[in-house]
Amino acid sequence: MKPLEEFHRNRKAKDGRRPNCRECAAEYARRRYAEDPAKVRAASRAWRDAHPEQVAATGKAWREQNRDRVEANHWRMEYRRRARRAGHEPAVEMFDRSDVAARWGDQCFHCGGPWEHLDHFPVAVQDGGHHSLENVRPSCEKDNYAGKVGAKIRRELIAERDQIIADTEALIADARALAG
Ligand SMILES: [Zn+2]
Repeated sequence: MKPLEEFHRNRKAKDGRRPNCRECAAEYARRRYAEDPAKVRAASRAWRDAHPEQVAATGKAWREQNRDRVEANHWRMEYRRRARRAGHEPAVEMFDRSDVAARWGDQCFHCGGPWEHLDHFPVAVQDGGHHSLENVRPSCEKDNYAGKVGAKIRRELIAERDQIIADTEALIADARALAG
């Protein structure tokens, strides 16, 4: 006899279990899918449409059990969006919170406090920084924001400097033309 745990639960049955064991049920499902994948997919969709609350609950439970994966996925999506908007081809490495903490410490890289943000540092996304373990740091919200503001000011100063150089060169060229 097989132990009870090898049978899926069934609230409606007297003993609370289904008549066929998990292995048999899985085998049966595999066979049915192989015979007519479209039919199984349609039935599955119909079941999901009829049970939105259960679907939502299952999704929520999965997300709670896989928080790091969900967060890492969110990081990558956000990065890609911002890189494209800044006109850079996204460069993405796969890593999650535990990798970041192992590489840089489980605290804000800038102030040592708790971290809930991923800071693209030293090269900001706006400046073409990659989504790589080497170019990210764990950061608190304040320092992540300060870093973004700092990078923006730096970009503006560089643009201003380049403009002044160009203007000066133009003035010198004009002066030479007048003298010549
Ligand atoms: Zn901080």
